[in-house]
Amino acid sequence: MKEFSLTLGTNNAKKRKELERLLAPYPITLRSLADIPNSIEVEETGTTFEENAILKAREQALHLNCWVLGEDSGISVEALDGAPGVYSARFSGPGATDASNNALLLEKLKDVPAGKRTAWYTCHMALSDPEGNIHINCQDRCYGQILKKEIGSGGFGYDPMFLLPEYNMTFGELGDTVKSVLSHRARANRKFVPRLLSLIGKLE
Ligand code: IMP
Repeated sequence: MKEFSLTLGTNNAKKRKELERLLAPYPITLRSLADIPNSIEVEETGTTFEENAILKAREQALHLNCWVLGEDSGISVEALDGAPGVYSARFSGPGATDASNNALLLEKLKDVPAGKRTAWYTCHMALSDPEGNIHINCQDRCYGQILKKEIGSGGFGYDPMFLLPEYNMTFGELGDTVKSVLSHRARANRKFVPRLLSLIGKLE
């Protein structure tokens, strides 16, 4: 199978590292926006993960004239009617950091008892060709509970307070190897890869 060149349309270094790890076993040459000085910052104006993933894929692909994987992800909390959802990165406002977002989430859930703190991560992946046509569009989730404090330092973002009930440990404790199998990104990638390989086969 011929090597396929794919650009990861994300500026989030931790997300990029996870995607690189997930795609490493396949005959794909990966480049990231960090390697491309003339890439653009795509505005996330969508109201769904799908809309934002498609925006990131299509606009960057048209600008760079290459195949781009757009990824949009975030955490949704049942007790907050699905918030912060697509606004996960900007939850605590302009200048938000992982620490300020996590502090705000703990504050908002301070009166919510254990057992009513269900949450899920969503990852949406969209693949655009250089002309802006979307060839793959898939999504998956990973369910857990939000703890009342942070435990562990693995992963990123909300991971130290996201408990996986099957393991009774957070993604912060479980670390990158386990996360690369169980996470929303890993699950979405398991849908993405067979479709990508089939597409590459047809392009040859
Ligand atoms: P995006 O870059 O607009 O897709 O925003 C992603 C945001 O969702 C991140 O900044 C985190 O706040 C959150 N998020 C997405 N995936 C993860 C994850 O795997 N662990 C922790 N937080 C995540």
